[in-house]
Amino acid sequence: MTRDIKKAFQEATDFVDIIKQPVGEVSLDDRKAIATETVENFRDYINKGFLEYRKSVTEAGSFAVTEWTGQGSILVDALEREYIDILGGFGLYSYGIRHPKIVEAVKAQLDRSPQYSQEMLDPLRAKLARVIAHLTPGDIQYGFFANSGTEAVEGAMKLAKFYTGKKGFISMLKGFHGKTLGSLSLMGKNDYRAPLLPLLEGVRHVPFGDADAVEQELKNALAVGDDIAGVVAEPIQGEAGAIVPPDDYWPRLREICDKYGVLLIADEVQTGFGRTGEIFGVDHWDVTPDIMCFGKALGGGVVPMSGFFSTPKIWEVMEPNPFMHTTTTGGNPLACASALAALTVMHEEDLPRQAKEKGEYVKKRLNEMADTYPGIFDTISGRGLLIGMQFVSDEIGYAVASGLFARGVITAGTLTNAKCIRFEPALNIPYELLDEALNKMEDVIKTLPKN
Ligand SMILES: *Cc1c(COP(=O)(O)O)cnc(C)c1O
Repeated sequence: MTRDIKKAFQEATDFVDIIKQPVGEVSLDDRKAIATETVENFRDYINKGFLEYRKSVTEAGSFAVTEWTGQGSILVDALEREYIDILGGFGLYSYGIRHPKIVEAVKAQLDRSPQYSQEMLDPLRAKLARVIAHLTPGDIQYGFFANSGTEAVEGAMKLAKFYTGKKGFISMLKGFHGKTLGSLSLMGKNDYRAPLLPLLEGVRHVPFGDADAVEQELKNALAVGDDIAGVVAEPIQGEAGAIVPPDDYWPRLREICDKYGVLLIADEVQTGFGRTGEIFGVDHWDVTPDIMCFGKALGGGVVPMSGFFSTPKIWEVMEPNPFMHTTTTGGNPLACASALAALTVMHEEDLPRQAKEKGEYVKKRLNEMADTYPGIFDTISGRGLLIGMQFVSDEIGYAVASGLFARGVITAGTLTNAKCIRFEPALNIPYELLDEALNKMEDVIKTLPKN
């Protein structure tokens, strides 16, 4: 790309003008031009690899589906095509898109102070920590805020190393904790790790849901003189396809970690804040971990936000030099305003209960479909509105995902990885939209060739 400073400024200026126009007033010609240019821009400036993987490009007809606006559980593209969102941004949109109360709080904070000076004490961050301390189980109390889920996990790993003076971790096969180098070390999938080895030293992986395997690994580590700082797991595995562990798993992890003097770290980035039908995933089993990681829905689907929290006893190691772990923008006032408003919405709308009831409703319908149309579904798993549909093959999964897309329903699922599709809508999605999405799914399934 040849350097053209004038053009850079001109294009930025033009686009800011479009952004500033009220959403309904941008002309159709401008929106078509944007849809066309966005594909080119992905191809030329982001990563052309994406274009082959997105249904919004490959299945959309003459104009790629270009995200424009949305409200609640409806996404609207630049050409005003509407989609029911049952992907929920992989757990980001627990409150729906642009929840009015969250947007209102963020706008108000934007007009007061969007970022911190870095020197004065910031009231929003302090308040949010206090609120989360009240909300979390057991003696979890102190927290640190960041912007992405992976940063929360990185922080949790550092805290565990500081506190225990040890270096290793045990994490779970198929687990997902983010893609920066530290979190990636915990990942339980070959594809993303292998090209980057060696990652952090001393990480061992065991099957998810098998507490004996964790204990065995801790015994092995002791026997050979390796040290383990912590055991890291998602309460319910999200990325792996909404995998629920046996009921005694988390209580046993708690016991085992206490017995061997290692920290229990719950990655609640996807399960936190109502998603699975309780405020936190660990609440299903009344377990208090030593460290909890949050992300995704924490920011209310408006501003990115994450954090990790722990107990006063463990947090003491952060006190002599609080600059051992810092971030310039983590926990900024906009993000905190968004999170505080999101928590009020979670409470007012009783989102954990909604997730629980709607999750049961959806699973019942999916199970009925699986009975009516055999040879399509392998398993249906999950809790609350973190639901995984495992199909018998990638082809069938992709046929379902693309058939839904053609009928105006957004799900994940790519050609190469469609065997498992998550059903993860906003927790306050109206039943009518759930029904519409499920009816369309049944519609698609009816058209599939019989095995
Ligand atoms: C999404 C996710 C992460 C990573 O969050 P990012 O914001 O994408 O970095 C970490 N852990 C779990 C359990 C997740 O689902």
